[in-house]
Amino acid sequence: MIIEAVMNLILLFPGDSTDEGVVRLTGRRRDHMLAVHRAAVGDELTVGIAGGRIGKGRVRKLDDDAIELAIALDADPPPPLDLTLIVALPRPKVMNRVVAAVASLGIKRLFLINSWRVDKSYWKSPRLSPDNLRLQSILGLEQGRDTVMPAIELRRLFRPFVEEELPELTRETAALVAHPYAAEECPRDVRGPVTLAIGPEGGFIEQEIASLTRAGFRPVHLGSRIFRVETAVAALAGRLK
Ligand code: SAM
Repeated sequence: MIIEAVMNLILLFPGDSTDEGVVRLTGRRRDHMLAVHRAAVGDELTVGIAGGRIGKGRVRKLDDDAIELAIALDADPPPPLDLTLIVALPRPKVMNRVVAAVASLGIKRLFLINSWRVDKSYWKSPRLSPDNLRLQSILGLEQGRDTVMPAIELRRLFRPFVEEELPELTRETAALVAHPYAAEECPRDVRGPVTLAIGPEGGFIEQEIASLTRAGFRPVHLGSRIFRVETAVAALAGRLK
């Protein structure tokens, strides 16, 4: 079994229920609970229902292909980050990590967009399938102990997105584009909603920074170190919120 990340919460779905308050889990979640949590009958694990509350699941039965938990959900998931993220599509492997990071950080809206330095082949990757985006989101939610899936939207054309969609999307938000060569330092602890754009692995070109600036974005930097896309996502989300 490949362990991508530790499940700090077992994410449940309506189809998992057998009786009221009982779920039966097979496949990846069962295997993970046995191999990583070393779950035994009577153990309690943190669980949460997709889109809903979190709580505890007590193991009540284990067999060769399933694990049964008696669940009690009594708490809300962590509050979402008031931040919409726009990321120029990175290469597929990195994209997986970015989506999982977005979900674990509590970001609820992600746009994956085209830009000049995005390799065209990335748009053909099977990793952009709804099933894979959902799986990576689930891995991130399990990591971050959250239950609310991020909405992920793909935009293959930079210009119409920036010129036609962004004005509405950024209305009454602080709109920032992370750019290592910006004159302004990235602000900290911004109150109110933020829309943040992050460039591709090769960075945004100056014309794209100019288009984003015309759409109301302020270019900001994070100091002299250049971060990988997934590190920039975490550093910026932590700093801004
Ligand atoms: N060679 C690229 C360049 O010079 O722009 C580096 C791109 S970096 C790997 C990917 C993205 O992360 C950047 O486009 C930017 O959005 C963000 N980023 C990384 N380090 C940053 C920094 N120090 N300040 C602001 N943004 C940064």
